[in-house]
Amino acid sequence: MIFLSSNFYVFILQPECHYEDVNDYNKIHDFLLIIYNSKMTENFIIPIHETFQKTIQGEGYWAGTPVDFIRLAGCPVGCHYCDTGYADGGVGLPRQLRTFDELINELFSPRVVISGGEPFIHKQLPALINRIEATGRKVSIETSGCYWQNISPNTWVTLSPKQHISPKYPVVPQMWKRASEIKLVIETGKELEFYSKILLANNNIPVYLQPEWYSRNLALPLVLELLQEYSHYRLSVQLHKYLGVQ
Ligand code: SF4
Repeated sequence: MIFLSSNFYVFILQPECHYEDVNDYNKIHDFLLIIYNSKMTENFIIPIHETFQKTIQGEGYWAGTPVDFIRLAGCPVGCHYCDTGYADGGVGLPRQLRTFDELINELFSPRVVISGGEPFIHKQLPALINRIEATGRKVSIETSGCYWQNISPNTWVTLSPKQHISPKYPVVPQMWKRASEIKLVIETGKELEFYSKILLANNNIPVYLQPEWYSRNLALPLVLELLQEYSHYRLSVQLHKYLGVQ
């Protein structure tokens, strides 16, 4: 609920909501947040799926390093194998509003991974990154690449394209250039063929092939075979899942 007068705003926002029409709710929600954040210069709020600390990065270049996670709420892409629960748009998933101060106060590790959902749907993302980097920590972002915002040049960007699954959500051209690494989730083996031209055009960016978790019994041998052919690519195995950590 919002009450608006010329210079006075009052918001009553539920900390956790479950709506049937997530997309409509998210539009209203983001609209309110934009107005709210325009009035706040230091302590923005942002919808959170979950946070956890003192874990390890399980994927890609930074696998095995200590990290904290901030998972932002919401993703429209709808991958059928989404392991965060956004395959159906995220109906009923957590969406808790938290301030930047709250998020920063609970950080512990030298690197913070901001994932989702899809982090780039949130207008507050660049400001959140700046606030975290100002504490002396490194930030990694994990994105499907279908939205663009200018973010800190110091931020590590893991691009995991999903346009082969959801053609409505192609990677924006800038993101291919901005990516620090490309993580291809391999389910059928056709993914490399699908992105072959763009991977060739950006062949200075490290590429990780990651077996899709639910079909890993088939996908892992497939990836090992692909690595024989594409020996400049690397294996990523979601270490955290094998170790049983969050
Ligand atoms: S882009 Fe990522 S968060 Fe969104 S549905 Fe696909 S796997 Fe899930």
